[in-house]
Amino acid sequence: MARRIVEQHVRALDQAADEAGRKLTSPATVLAAACGLLGHRQRYFGATGEHFSVQEYDGIQVIDALDERLLRNLRVLLHGYAERARKKVDSKAAEFLSQKLTPRAKEMPQYPVGYMIYFWMVTAIQGFDALLDQGSAFERPELETAMIHHLLGILDKYLVTREKPVTRHFSDVAREYSVVMRLKCSCGAEKFEVKLQALCQTPAGEPYDRLDLQCKECGGQRSITFDLPHFKDMYQV
Ligand SMILES: [Zn+2]
Repeated sequence: MARRIVEQHVRALDQAADEAGRKLTSPATVLAAACGLLGHRQRYFGATGEHFSVQEYDGIQVIDALDERLLRNLRVLLHGYAERARKKVDSKAAEFLSQKLTPRAKEMPQYPVGYMIYFWMVTAIQGFDALLDQGSAFERPELETAMIHHLLGILDKYLVTREKPVTRHFSDVAREYSVVMRLKCSCGAEKFEVKLQALCQTPAGEPYDRLDLQCKECGGQRSITFDLPHFKDMYQV
């Protein structure tokens, strides 16, 4: 079931990005397309919630997979336009946006999970709309072009950790802890503690992590597992 939901929404996301990519004529249309694409999260979040709790292991896995796909598509869209348009970014406008929209950029974890980047993007876009309303020393198209590159900068920082096999491995492991943080115990608490993390192997020799968890509220125990498809790449560099 989880796989079917992922496949279905991956197709929808790819299609939406593809269609949006063909209608980009100005920085403003690019930003509108970016918003439209980000809006897809509500759909797959809702669809996933019909089958799984989004605070349960399966639900979290589905959402994380789709968030990553969404962000990849968004990057392709923004990057494609930036490459074609070749508009120069005003460095002062870029600086202005970083200060106004993401003053806490240094607090971003080294290996962020997709949903964190999603919320950064949404917050940045809302902040950008407010800036446009307030008015500034910059022309609107100038700011819009800088905004496209601002968003690309955030996306690149995230996606670079998902592209090289070695950083991808570390990013996968960092995500395990983020899943634990979001898991809800049957007692209702979101307070699982990792008691043991063990690197295991399937009979076929595929490595995976097993996390033994205990709820700090009721003491209930459970184990969850994560595939580590990039573990072996660590030894090939
Ligand atoms: Zn509990």
